[in-house]
Amino acid sequence: MGNKGVYVIWLHLPKRMGIAIGKLGTFDFEPGIYAYAGSAQRNLEQRVARHSHLDKKLHWHIDYLRAKAEFLGAALFYNQTKISECWLAQALLRLPGATLPAAGFGSSDCRCRAHLVQVPLALLQSRLVLLSDSIHDIDLGAAQTLALLNAGD
Ligand SMILES: [Zn+2]
Repeated sequence: MGNKGVYVIWLHLPKRMGIAIGKLGTFDFEPGIYAYAGSAQRNLEQRVARHSHLDKKLHWHIDYLRAKAEFLGAALFYNQTKISECWLAQALLRLPGATLPAAGFGSSDCRCRAHLVQVPLALLQSRLVLLSDSIHDIDLGAAQTLALLNAGD
């Protein structure tokens, strides 16, 4: 398997705050769980590891949110082409209760409304068997992410 594909990362924002997202503008983010769909057509694992780290220059839209939020986990979909990133983003938007906090977030070079959604914690808890009652232990891999997305259809 090549080290390339698409991914979803899961973040937890502990409190409500306004966050400047680069040149996109400043948005109000409610506390809660966020899911972001991205693509790395090379060095997929390094890209996701980069999202988990805080010590870096802010480059992508997601970096600005990540700087204020906790990294909960990631789902990697190997050998998926870049178009699957948009498919993932659109599937996330169809989840019951999903909201779009920042139009254009992560979707500067495609026609999606955004590649970031806020997902109700209750939805995750009702759809998935989590290992712990602590949201800090959410670590949604690819299989769990696909189950969640299918459940939302
Ligand atoms: Zn897109």
